[in-house]
Amino acid sequence: MRQGIINTYRAYLPVTERTPVITLFEGDTPLIPAPRLAQAITPGLRLMLKFEGMNPTGSFKDRGMTMAVTKAVEDGAVAVMCASTGNTSAAASAYAARAGIKCVVLLPNTDVALGKLSQALIHGAKVLAIEGTFDDALVLTRQICEKYPIQIVNHINPYRIEGQKTGAFEVCDVLGDAPDFHALPVGNAGNITAYWKGYKEYHAAGISTKLPKMIGFQAAGSAPIVDGAPVLNPHTIATAIRIGNPASWQHALTARDESGGLIGKVTDDQILEAYLLLPALEGVFTEPACAAPLAGLKKLYDSGYFNDYDGATVAVTLTGHGLKDPDRAIKNVPHPATVPATLEAVVRALDF
Ligand SMILES: *Cc1c(COP(=O)(O)O)cnc(C)c1O
Repeated sequence: MRQGIINTYRAYLPVTERTPVITLFEGDTPLIPAPRLAQAITPGLRLMLKFEGMNPTGSFKDRGMTMAVTKAVEDGAVAVMCASTGNTSAAASAYAARAGIKCVVLLPNTDVALGKLSQALIHGAKVLAIEGTFDDALVLTRQICEKYPIQIVNHINPYRIEGQKTGAFEVCDVLGDAPDFHALPVGNAGNITAYWKGYKEYHAAGISTKLPKMIGFQAAGSAPIVDGAPVLNPHTIATAIRIGNPASWQHALTARDESGGLIGKVTDDQILEAYLLLPALEGVFTEPACAAPLAGLKKLYDSGYFNDYDGATVAVTLTGHGLKDPDRAIKNVPHPATVPATLEAVVRALDF
């Protein structure tokens, strides 16, 4: 039964009996086997999709936000604030509403998916679109939270990582052990940091017997970690990972190197191809960022990276729901033909 990640995993989280848990019963998301997708892009591998779009606000951000807002309330905060490419603000505004505290959001004024913006607004957050990038918004947010009694709930809030690591616990709980590989998109690199922390904690506790290789993917137009330098004007259709200067950069390198994995990049064309393939082959609809690790796995597979790993289990975090960004979907599929409302016309158009 869903009881929220704090109640399920409290032994691994910084909470006490007296902590006022703010939850929307997030977590416990499905780990979906994807044999048809595997056949298409990585034949011989066992792909398991951790569909984080099934969280209350439609992305994995809820795992971190239940922790961050819970601790903010425990510490007496009356407001939280974040810079966001969309999903962080959707989660922050929902959990703040749940807690009965205020929420302030700074968004870049370009490229925020419509579904995400609607969430922050409907939950009553104070939203400002700034004439700049996410990275600019984050700098301003940090300055404001240092000056005023407002709790920052961006990735630099350590409780976010604590909550997000429960994704790794759930993967192990379902598989009975850790997977051989774990692939995911990388933006601010909080999630790759969190998953690696979770896998290491379960391993140290003797619950899992192995550790996965962590495989992260950035978009080619927004790949500071791969290219080794911040990107001033990052661009990609995968707006959730359009981050030029990741907050958890060093932690991502640690996760990569400790696990023996890698962080690579894929082009928007490759992302788009995987974005369309997944819902058609498996019935799972995600936002574009989730296609980055799928495109990345295909690229690695084609280069022979998995040659010695036939039958290996690869968990893939699908970080957000496709309905977050309906514009992107509509732009890339054929639109319905209009026909007269007669049986003859419909049958003819269906080409039976
Ligand atoms: C936030 C987000 C990411 C990026 O995660 P990081 O922890 O910033 O690397 C990827 N996909 C979606 C859908 C997101 O909301």
